[in-house]
Amino acid sequence: MTHYIGRFAPSPTGPLHFGSLVSALASFLDARAAQGQWLVRIEDLDPPREDPSAAAEILRILDQYGLYHDGEVVYQSQRSDLYQAALEQLISSGAAFPCTCSRSQLGGRLHLGICSARPGEDCAYRFLCPGTHLTLHDGLQPDHSYDCQQSIGDFVIRRRDHLWSYQLAVVVDDAAQGITHVVRGIDLMDSTARQYLLQQALALPHPHYSHLPVAVERNGQKLSKQNLSLAVCGADVAATLFTALQWLRQSPPDALASAGRDEMLQWAVAHWQPALLSGLSGQPAPSSFMRPS
Ligand code: GLU
Repeated sequence: MTHYIGRFAPSPTGPLHFGSLVSALASFLDARAAQGQWLVRIEDLDPPREDPSAAAEILRILDQYGLYHDGEVVYQSQRSDLYQAALEQLISSGAAFPCTCSRSQLGGRLHLGICSARPGEDCAYRFLCPGTHLTLHDGLQPDHSYDCQQSIGDFVIRRRDHLWSYQLAVVVDDAAQGITHVVRGIDLMDSTARQYLLQQALALPHPHYSHLPVAVERNGQKLSKQNLSLAVCGADVAATLFTALQWLRQSPPDALASAGRDEMLQWAVAHWQPALLSGLSGQPAPSSFMRPS
């Protein structure tokens, strides 16, 4: 059996929309086609932005779509000790430093260099960005190169209000869960660069990344919970799966349109061809999942 552990890692800021459904479906199909495991992790790190009912609702919809995960669902809100240990490791190796610079002090510039703040103060912690170039190889997208200090800078890994940053938590959890393959939207490509640098600094393995195109609205904006995109509901599951497979360019045969959910998923696992999405960065969501204009 191939050693493959994939995951879907939604933030519970609202219900699943079509864009998150296709990410969940693509990562599920990629894992199952490789006879791998597929885990679900709820990224509930930012309570002020969360909707208290969203995590349960997301898990319910995944179940209704037959996207069954392996193992227990992991909640980032319960894993602070792991993030704290990683922060301490970075501080002791000189790769993280306390910082009190506010956004307005930085005035849009990237933070570069050690701040005069001392630990113990009411401070954030930043990752000290190395002065290196980084080239990311991707399963679906062309190579992406970064001059790290020019385009990334010293980014926050623990906020001043003591919330953990998404970047640090994802790196720690992907490693702790043994994730080998990450399939997610291309909007997270620049986060991948940050995560790659953190993996290097923490001596953690780099998963294999594939960045999917994102589903966009009529105005070209990415569908997101923030722009109140329509939620995927539990009705018409098979028809929605069929539409999602078409959106993922898998060309499901017409005859499959009348099949049930499980048959459709079986077909999709057996015929999964991610390469059909190569180089695509975005495409319109089906009109039934866009907000009315
Ligand atoms: N939690 C992130 C989101 O919902 C995705 C994280 C990831 O896939 O790494 O946008």
